[in-house]
Amino acid sequence: MNFENTEEAYRLKSNSELFRAYYLFRLISYPTLVALGSKITLLALKIKLPISNLFKHTVFKQFCAGTQKEDSIKLVQKLSDLKVNSYMHYAAEGLKTEEGMEISLEKTLETLSFSKGRPALPFTVFKSTSLGAFDLFEKKTSGKSFTPQEGQSWERCLDRMEQCCKKASELGVRLLIDAEETWVQGAIDAIAEDFMQRYNKEEAVVFTTVQMYRKDRLPYLKKLVQKAEEKGFKLGVKLVRGAYIEKENDRAERLGIPSPICENKKETDKNFDMALDFLLPKLETCRLFIGSHSELSILKVTDWMKENGLANNHPNLWFSQLYGMADHISFNLAASGYQVVKYVPYGPVREVIPYLIRRAEENTSVSGQTPRELQLIEKEIKRRKAKEVEV
Ligand SMILES: Cc1cc2nc3c(=O)[nH]c(=O)nc-3n(C[C@H](O)[C@H](O)[C@H](O)COP(=O)(O)OP(=O)(O)OC[C@H]3O[C@@H](n4cnc5c(N)ncnc54)[C@H](O)[C@@H]3O)c2cc1C
Repeated sequence: MNFENTEEAYRLKSNSELFRAYYLFRLISYPTLVALGSKITLLALKIKLPISNLFKHTVFKQFCAGTQKEDSIKLVQKLSDLKVNSYMHYAAEGLKTEEGMEISLEKTLETLSFSKGRPALPFTVFKSTSLGAFDLFEKKTSGKSFTPQEGQSWERCLDRMEQCCKKASELGVRLLIDAEETWVQGAIDAIAEDFMQRYNKEEAVVFTTVQMYRKDRLPYLKKLVQKAEEKGFKLGVKLVRGAYIEKENDRAERLGIPSPICENKKETDKNFDMALDFLLPKLETCRLFIGSHSELSILKVTDWMKENGLANNHPNLWFSQLYGMADHISFNLAASGYQVVKYVPYGPVREVIPYLIRRAEENTSVSGQTPRELQLIEKEIKRRKAKEVEV
């Protein structure tokens, strides 16, 4: 695999979009700026300041398809022309009321219906805490009991999640369940396992997400595989490193408890590699969806596939990157025949801001792949300029 082909990687980007990406990545590469900006933004959201316009033409344009489903559909088509599949998501994380959760449900069901029979849209996704209250997931995870009112609200949440899985199963569209903070993930894991056991009898429809920045996830994966083998269902796993590192470490420090997160990046990488070593030989039972922007992790998988004689388009292996990031991986993999799916979020600017903040935090120079993104975008800008001169 060669990820250096920038002409392939940025085919979809006009010159002005490429320049915008370049300046944006440069800006968000400053951790202090991002940390301060995130705090101010969250405060502005809380006191309902009109900040949408500030985001609309910058971070939003880079990481989101648009405000409406129709914007996503146009993008999905363009990606599909370049052999990159997509999964669409109404990424409005700000909807915390019962009414908001009903909207999230409606949008997920709508996306499921729209994805049916469209090979360019092989997956859909939901975030559990957009279908039920965060506090309830937290209470359930910690083993506390609900008040009667909370109990009713929890039943509605389970019903929303069930509706999504049932429809996914009926329509034959795979459904990813995102992983979230450890203090809500226990409840999400239990529900995801139950759904997989019930809906993944013949083929994996429901995929759970496993975050390998957690110290406890390798034994958990082993337990999951054993359960799938014993109970006779297909295990769908979206394997990621994990997106909530600062929140996790801050909370552990605040509560005076050991952090559930690996000590450093090297340990997380080791854990991620061990998960791959464990799951790759198990593709009979397991369907593996690798959500990563790490070239080393992707190369580890493509090398393994080659060594073990697996076709590039093996049906049980998927590679996925987020829209606006790691295009050099997505487009070069797709050009070589691997199954690639780009996560394509959309939604009202204000409601997707929490998602955008996570992307900005992930792209600061200390923790992310930004230097690599900048290097490749710069290379492509130079290539295009040289070509203009030639002409
Ligand atoms: C398609 C897709 C779906 C995703 N879905 C989810 C999801 O459902 N839930 C979720 O939580 N995340 C999700 N993510 C985000 C993901 O978990 C990572 O945050 C992100 O992809 C960066 O990791 P990486 O593998 O791309 O590469 P890298 O850039 O190599 O790794 C960065 C990651 O390493 C870890 N890390 C960095 N510094 C340290 C440190 N000091 N100590 C320990 N670990 C460290 C963190 O997890 C960090 O995000 C998804 C990502 C993709 C591409």
